[in-house]
Amino acid sequence: MTEGESMKISVVIPFYNEERMIEKMYSELVHVLNQQTKEEFEIILIDDGSKDKTFEKILEIAKNDERVRYLSFSRNFGKEAGTIAGLEYATGEAVILMDGDLQHPPAMLPQMIEAYEQGYDVVSARRTRTGEKPHRTFLAKHFYKLANKMMDIELMDGVSEFRLFSRKVVNAIISMQEYNRFSKGIFAWIGFNEKVIEYENQVRTVGETKYSLKFSLNYAIQGILSFNDKP
Ligand code: UDP
Ligand code: MG
Repeated sequence: MTEGESMKISVVIPFYNEERMIEKMYSELVHVLNQQTKEEFEIILIDDGSKDKTFEKILEIAKNDERVRYLSFSRNFGKEAGTIAGLEYATGEAVILMDGDLQHPPAMLPQMIEAYEQGYDVVSARRTRTGEKPHRTFLAKHFYKLANKMMDIELMDGVSEFRLFSRKVVNAIISMQEYNRFSKGIFAWIGFNEKVIEYENQVRTVGETKYSLKFSLNYAIQGILSFNDKP
């Protein structure tokens, strides 16, 4: 890309039963993106089989904004499946993944894009654990400790799926995702040059988490088993 030329950045957001959140999410996102004059944007909204009015709201948003494209699943497949589908659907030269509940603050995007423009292939937003329930913080801390002892890759506490990927990385993820579904591991394992940016933990204001503690533990165990050469 030559200097001054605009590039397209895709923002991919999965939603499951977020009818009370989606409009607020969209308007905060657009507020931030509209201040970015250099780049073009594509916003990809994924309805992961919601049972509420999330999809109707996506249609309404898309009708009024030509930058918005969407995917809708007939049933709930889980955030990772939605995310991978979004990565496949995205056409931007860089793709930003973020949650649809404002726990991943849109205000971080300009900094992430700037780091990409400086040449990073992966820009990870890392949250602090301010305001989190103490037992969650405790479990997470021990999970990362144990996981990093047992696995062949290193995971960083607080880094989730709030990330920007260059096109090169997006293509790599798409080509390897069929072999392993543990995205925290996939994203860490790829090993492209990465910049980590910190943001303050955001407590969800509307709706509730779709992930129970039990689910999180299962996910963690699956991850440890799949990123491991130790028998
Ligand atoms: N999500 C999804 N499919 C699911 C569960 C969640 O697309 O089966 C979306 C959800 O709507 C949100 C994001 O994934 O935009 C993160 O979910 P959540 O906030 O429930 O997870 P947490 O922040 O508690 O880890
Ligand atoms: Mg959340």
